[in-house]
Amino acid sequence: MRQRIAVVGGGPGGLTFARVLHRHGHPVTVLERDPHPAARPPGGTLDLQRGLGQAALEKAGLLPEFRALSRPEGQAMRILDPDGTVLRDWRPGPKELANPEIDRGHLRDLLLGPLDVRWGRGVTRVAPGGRDGVLVHFADGRREPFDLVVGADGAWSRVRPALSPATPRYTGVTAVETSLDDVDTRHPDLARLVGDGSLAVYGVHRALVAQRNSGGHVKVYAQFRAPLDWHADLDLADAEAVRAHLLALFDGWAPPVLDLLRRGSAFVHRPLHVLPVSHTWPHVPGVTLLGDAAHLMPPLGAGANLAMLEGAELAEALAAGPADPDDAVRAFEERMWARAGRWARMTADGLERLVSADPGAAVALFDRVQAR
Ligand SMILES: Cc1cc2nc3c(=O)[nH]c(=O)nc-3n(C[C@H](O)[C@H](O)[C@H](O)COP(=O)(O)OP(=O)(O)OC[C@H]3O[C@@H](n4cnc5c(N)ncnc54)[C@H](O)[C@@H]3O)c2cc1C
Repeated sequence: MRQRIAVVGGGPGGLTFARVLHRHGHPVTVLERDPHPAARPPGGTLDLQRGLGQAALEKAGLLPEFRALSRPEGQAMRILDPDGTVLRDWRPGPKELANPEIDRGHLRDLLLGPLDVRWGRGVTRVAPGGRDGVLVHFADGRREPFDLVVGADGAWSRVRPALSPATPRYTGVTAVETSLDDVDTRHPDLARLVGDGSLAVYGVHRALVAQRNSGGHVKVYAQFRAPLDWHADLDLADAEAVRAHLLALFDGWAPPVLDLLRRGSAFVHRPLHVLPVSHTWPHVPGVTLLGDAAHLMPPLGAGANLAMLEGAELAEALAAGPADPDDAVRAFEERMWARAGRWARMTADGLERLVSADPGAAVALFDRVQAR
């Protein structure tokens, strides 16, 4: 009998896993909680690195389509002082393809392609060790058995408790996201300020980052160190109250930089959580994790890349048809833990420097990464 394989979560990791299995002619069931692909805004832009996310797309046979959709010019990076002084203004050369940007929605559509996703299938838990395999429990009370269940269901994974008691902890850094539409015509001054890629402004214990997406859309992230309940006296649904709070928090910064907050539309609270660095678990036959569900880390350009490469590698290993697929899962876990542990340390260290008492540390980190 062919293995009954399910992946919980249709994010970058789960979809890459399913797409590579599909490419090798193996059926896979994708269980996604969202009722349909457009149920919520897909999120901002992702940079996909050559040895990680791009390697995964190559395994999925999707690299040419990615090249057509992505924005190499989006690799540009400008760093300002809070007073508006330009500290760094890096632009990629015409052949620079190390980390092109792609809108999350475009990446999702690219990966979805021919996949038959079961939308609106929220999983509540999985129970390994049953006579008929691993039992997946759904929010509507139904249950279904599989031989292998891959938890790619993100930070607050419902699959993870079957393997590990770990839960995400708050880093002490929070982010509030806002966005601007149609910047090139409606806000040409801010379009010039942000440029083709990202703009970052680092102050003491706070940072403001703006990233250009396609279609003149810009996402702005105000990041700062604060207790998790920093908004206890604030109604987060009241955009003007949140705006006033942020403008007070970033008081004294250059007016064009603050305009990113003044003209932004709705505000979304995104406190940054992480799983323990080097999170592992005793192997359980029939269940594994990948992506944020396995190693949630600060959002510094690695999470989606790792999730995709892991999805592609696990799918290839299973498609190779080992006598015991569990051997492939064990080997995959060892490899994932080693690589993700290195990235978790790097990104934890990165967050300490980017939102720190010494804004110079952020610029030094940028220079170090550029010099590699
Ligand atoms: C602001 C920001 C910017 C970022 N920029 C980058 C970047 O440039 N590059 C990069 O590599 N990473 C970036 N990241 C990190 C990246 O977004 C994540 O690491 C990545 O999305 C993880 O992919 P995933 O597939 O593991 O999980 P997710 O993307 O979280 O997908 C999980 C999926 O599972 C579904 N799901 C959840 N629970 C259930 C359930 N119970 N049942 C069924 N389905 C469920 C969800 O609806 C979702 O579709 C950024 C993160 C943030 C917040």
